[in-house]
Amino acid sequence: MFEALGDRLGGVFDTLTGRGALTERDVDAAMREIRKALLEADVALPVVKQFVAKVREEAVGERVIKAVKPGQQVVKIVNDALIQTLGGTLSEDDADMAAVRAASELNLNAKPPVVILMAGLQGSGKTTTTGKLALYLRERAKKKVMLASLDTNRPAAMDQLGMLADKSGTGFLPIVKGQSAVEITQRALKEAAKGGYDVLFLDTAGRTTINEELMAEVIEVARIAQPTETLLVADALTGQDAVETAARFNEALPLTGLVLTRIDGDGRGGAALSMKAVTGLPIKFLGTGEKLDGLEQFDAERLAGRILGQGDVVALVEKASALIDEKDAARAAEKMAKGEFDLDDLANQLGQMSKLGGMGGIMKLLPGMGKMKKQMDAMGGVDDNLLSRQRAVILSMTPWERKNPKLIKASRKKRIAAGSGVQVSEVNKLLKMHRQMSDMMKKMGKGGMAGMAAQMAG
Ligand code: GDP
Repeated sequence: MFEALGDRLGGVFDTLTGRGALTERDVDAAMREIRKALLEADVALPVVKQFVAKVREEAVGERVIKAVKPGQQVVKIVNDALIQTLGGTLSEDDADMAAVRAASELNLNAKPPVVILMAGLQGSGKTTTTGKLALYLRERAKKKVMLASLDTNRPAAMDQLGMLADKSGTGFLPIVKGQSAVEITQRALKEAAKGGYDVLFLDTAGRTTINEELMAEVIEVARIAQPTETLLVADALTGQDAVETAARFNEALPLTGLVLTRIDGDGRGGAALSMKAVTGLPIKFLGTGEKLDGLEQFDAERLAGRILGQGDVVALVEKASALIDEKDAARAAEKMAKGEFDLDDLANQLGQMSKLGGMGGIMKLLPGMGKMKKQMDAMGGVDDNLLSRQRAVILSMTPWERKNPKLIKASRKKRIAAGSGVQVSEVNKLLKMHRQMSDMMKKMGKGGMAGMAAQMAG
């Protein structure tokens, strides 16, 4: 799932190859594609419009960090907007981020038994999710959990919940034939209190479509049970329909959160985005399989990453912008373009590369480079110590030597090698690499080492 959207966006960003600030034309082209991709991924139209407007506003005129390509920068902007749309506010402020994270937790702060009401259409995965959450709370939070089925029309559904209770090792309210949903609710509340249960799940009846009778019943159950959490379970594969369902349930019930099931299926991932945007409710969990362990706590950053499927470009942009002093980079690039790339500049570049995690680190972060890294590992690996050894060699030189590498004679090489603890052959290698690099830099013009890494990526 989500791959279609990721591929689409990836293709768009590859076409942005210019440098400097993102132009309005770049951004417009990207936005058209993003809009198409989101619509194809089943994101609801009003949500698409809102989303694209937000991204456009942030992208136009955004300065492109030297180390990355404009397309990568747009990925980062789209990524941030996705996180914001999926998870509420995204802010540098840690307190805010903590609030977003807390929203995806289950609230159990009430007098036990804490009631969790499960709502949703038939077939949405409601009963399965109830079993998953029961196991989750029993294992992670060491809670004593009871499950009760209110699906009076479908004995099979009641039996199914009973079996899930067995599998997850949680309590199950015995079935009493002929009782109404409201009567079962009252009995469940009493039994859970008597049995010293921490949490009581009420699995309400599902219908294939929303109808008044169903709604009236759930509303009455909610009134009696006063749930701390009322979760709507929705099938991510139903796309636009899921949004309609969410809106209807949200009007009728005091929902506190969403659970999206079948994230493991081959749907297009737009439902998550739309449902969050339309209801404003936090997505709390994702269903990732039929088995009881197929549950994931929702994480906006992770889902945004999955939707974009762009490796860790985002992480690279963040790292590069935090670590590379752009003025330095610009100055170095200018010197290089004029062929004035001396060993001090090389030492600087090597330092920047180490900060980005060395060649190995840079390659791990870039999409499509994973394979190349594997090949290089097979050939003996990327030698990241090499960067620090090369820097040590340069730092053992006098300022004069660093400015005049061509004039370094054998006796000086010997002294430099001894000073940095390497063989003379390694000093020679470094000088040769510098010569080759300055030639290449002259040809390449601007960009520097970081630019080179970015070029390698694309
Ligand atoms: P309910 O009618 O809403 O209670 O739905 P069920 O819990 O009975 O689920 C309907 C079907 O969907 C069952 O076959 C489940 O095994 C399956 N199902 C539920 N959640 C997931 C999920 O996250 N991924 C996958 N692949 N299947 C799921």
